[in-house]
Amino acid sequence: MSSHPLFALLKSQRLPHGIIWIDSDVVALAGFIKTLLCQARSAQEFHACGHCKACLLTQSEAGHPDVNWLKPEGKLHLIKIDQVREVIEFLSKSAQQGGYKVIVFENAEGLNIAAQNALLKSLEEPSANSLLVLQTTYPHLLLPTIKSRCQIFINKQEKTCNVPQIVHEFIDALSLDFNPIAVTTKFKEASLEILFNGWYEFLYEILKFQQGLTISNAWHSWRISIESAAHASPQKLCRFMDELIYLKSLLHKKIALNSQALLERALIEWKNL
Ligand SMILES: [Zn+2]
Repeated sequence: MSSHPLFALLKSQRLPHGIIWIDSDVVALAGFIKTLLCQARSAQEFHACGHCKACLLTQSEAGHPDVNWLKPEGKLHLIKIDQVREVIEFLSKSAQQGGYKVIVFENAEGLNIAAQNALLKSLEEPSANSLLVLQTTYPHLLLPTIKSRCQIFINKQEKTCNVPQIVHEFIDALSLDFNPIAVTTKFKEASLEILFNGWYEFLYEILKFQQGLTISNAWHSWRISIESAAHASPQKLCRFMDELIYLKSLLHKKIALNSQALLERALIEWKNL
């Protein structure tokens, strides 16, 4: 775990104030927070000691008083704006143990637009030694203004399924100086759902590559394509992922649509990224 890029940022004192943690598993995140708050962490190994006051508080049932974990509640599975206001208040107070103050929004997609907007100020003008973490597996449900103010970390579990052959051919077609119209013509018979899903996975792998994380085995043969697309900023890549989700949602609406025009639109946007 200590090989995670977050530890390197902490070591070099470049830890961001806002993090989007794209993973369903929060164990690694909790481990990082424990290390962050440990008052006697080892400088070489960079892990929590497990014995200091901060570590004992983290391990206690009540948890560390300077860490606040929030989850969506109720039938609508929402994190309410009142909860957000409370944590903003929490951030403005000094830390009880003199270290960092940390807020983790678990399943942050439960923050509605008003709640996300309420968070913006805390991300724009963060209090000293504060860390705000948005954990989600649905990053496309977070506002672009939130995403652009956070550093994104992807810790997606390795997928065992293989990438469909048609997706391989499609990604190959994108890797050269491609012509969107020619590529649209070539794939006009293909299922757009499969292409868009594969494209989305490909983008995930690019984001992972940018973070210094291992590319999934299924995508290893496309390492060169992944590397050559990695010049685009994570924010631009996330915006394009949002666009793919949007185009995919159009496929499910029972309206007459020109799927070739849809694919061409996505290809032109990708080329201009
Ligand atoms: Zn400790």
